[in-house]
Amino acid sequence: MILRNILFKSSALFLLLFPFFILTAAPAKAPQIRYTFDLGRKYLSLRDIASFYGLKFVLGQSACEITGNKLRASFVFDKRYGAVNGITVHYLNAIYKKGQEVFIAEQDFFSVLDPIVRSNSLKNQKIRTIMLDPGHGGKDNGAQGKKFKEKDVALDVARKLRDILTASGYKVIMTRETDVFPTLEDRTNKCNAARPDLFISIHCNGAGNPGINGVETFRMTPVGAASTSDSQAKFTRCPGNIFDNNNSRLAFEIQQSLARTTRQIDRGVKHARFYVIRNVSCPAVLVETGFITNPVEEMLLGNPVRQLTIAKSIAEGIKRYQAAISGSPIAAVPEQTQQPAPAAQTASDSTKKAPAGNNNGNNKTGNGQGTQSAQLPQPDTKKDPSPASPAPPSIPAPTPVPPSLPMPQDPKKSGSTASSQPAQAAKADVRDMIPQTKDD
Ligand SMILES: [Zn+2]
Repeated sequence: MILRNILFKSSALFLLLFPFFILTAAPAKAPQIRYTFDLGRKYLSLRDIASFYGLKFVLGQSACEITGNKLRASFVFDKRYGAVNGITVHYLNAIYKKGQEVFIAEQDFFSVLDPIVRSNSLKNQKIRTIMLDPGHGGKDNGAQGKKFKEKDVALDVARKLRDILTASGYKVIMTRETDVFPTLEDRTNKCNAARPDLFISIHCNGAGNPGINGVETFRMTPVGAASTSDSQAKFTRCPGNIFDNNNSRLAFEIQQSLARTTRQIDRGVKHARFYVIRNVSCPAVLVETGFITNPVEEMLLGNPVRQLTIAKSIAEGIKRYQAAISGSPIAAVPEQTQQPAPAAQTASDSTKKAPAGNNNGNNKTGNGQGTQSAQLPQPDTKKDPSPASPAPPSIPAPTPVPPSLPMPQDPKKSGSTASSQPAQAAKADVRDMIPQTKDD
């Protein structure tokens, strides 16, 4: 078993110092975010994170939840996945429980979860040009069903998506317009020459087991982490890592829209170092629109009406992403999806090249140094704080969930006052609450 070295010195020190803070007129100090190290990786207390943002933390037997206004995030112990507002989100590291505390890797908080539930860490860029990348083509059929080929479905969906986006005022560039075969290098070279604001690669999945089905959306794996299908961290920084935070939100919004609209199994937001999303210098995702090797999904994927539905849902996800990065209110995605199947096996896609990088995980033995506090991002001060569509969690709630608590919100927008927020949240950035150590 892995040695886990939990540090609670911080809480003891806080108790000692707390009366001092009460007695002084100094600005209120935020609660400390307890942390620990596991194999050299820093983990943060979910309970403390929830407290910092004025959210409710509910501990269950096999999972926990953080709930608030418009937010319901669940975390499965010892697994690398959870859900945000009912959409499966794969994490880079397993969530783990120790006693009554649950910890999330600091990297998962900053580069996966926080960009999904808040907009503060997202780069706000005008989206004018979008590049669509229909996978495969020409001599490369991609995955094949009994009747349809992935290359054809990907192109049909991309063409429909192009028309929708063009009608919405975007400039759209395609890596291929016809049944031809651009290499992966051709695709990324074209992207980096055209410098679009988004890159969306469209594929269908394939699996040896025809029973496997569902939709999933990949974003580039952050540096120093293992991809969803892997356990080995890699440390090569690639162009696709420039927009790690935006990638997380873009993938989530598209996956949410796609899963709810198509009502296919939600396989979640995943991480991979596929060539095309690794080597483009803009926010990018690779969308798997369904399993062409599943008889039911194959017939759906080959149906022009369903292709249009898929295209509309991706367009909706893009619009929701644009709203998120610009701080605009985001309307709910109306339809609900089915229960997710995060543990289902993913088929490999032969056209997605092997990942770059060949480094090993760092895996230092736990040697954390406890201090008073840890850091998390500042509660929202300017942007819509969370995805807008509450939904049943994909993971059963561990205990009955009490009424929602408010997320920290922008007083200018919401009309709420500072007194309705946690005192600490109004002033502090949670990043300031995490101790700096030599590992940072
Ligand atoms: Zn493919």
